[in-house]
Amino acid sequence: MRIVLLGPPGGGKGTQAAILKQHWQIPHVSTGELLRAACRDKTPLGQKVQAVMDAGELVSDDLMLDLLEQRFADDDVDNGFILDGYPRNLAQADALDKLLSRIGQPLDAALLIEVDEQNILDRIEQRAREEGRSDDTAEVVRNRLQVYAEHTAPVADHYAADGRLIRVLGEGEIDTITQRILAAIRAADWMQ
Ligand code: AMP
Repeated sequence: MRIVLLGPPGGGKGTQAAILKQHWQIPHVSTGELLRAACRDKTPLGQKVQAVMDAGELVSDDLMLDLLEQRFADDDVDNGFILDGYPRNLAQADALDKLLSRIGQPLDAALLIEVDEQNILDRIEQRAREEGRSDDTAEVVRNRLQVYAEHTAPVADHYAADGRLIRVLGEGEIDTITQRILAAIRAADWMQ
């Protein structure tokens, strides 16, 4: 299973990825997590991107592609992966197609988890209390939602255009959403 998760910030991608990773026994590659680890470890990359992340803006495509190429050089992705947080714009979607075709691991599907805006604000508020992420403040969240609408939402059309998009309603209990995802994947005829 080689899949990307799409959906707004706070829309439950990370939660579902953690469950699906266990279900399919494949790695969860989260670009946000890789960047947060670089910031925590104060690596040169971390120092470059901290301010951009704190503002809720997108890290440059060049830095992101380097990071992704390094991650995809590891053997553990050879049996599949759940990619979360990338691509964030159309240029990244093209770069990803090229990278995955070069390593012979093309995507099976893009899974769009759809959640309405009020629901997202409630979830991010909860995450801010639980995890204390520096980009979960009200102002930065507003910016991240705007960046999502402007740059990331069109990525779903990229996958819809070549018939690889699966849409799932991301509202309700966590387990209900997981079951919806698994059912939608079973129902996608090209995944059989
Ligand atoms: P996430 O955990 O996916 O919400 O990502 C947190 C932050 O990391 C984002 O708001 C961006 O600043 C940065 N980030 C993560 N993935 C990407 C990406 N593919 N392109 C640009 N910036 C990214």
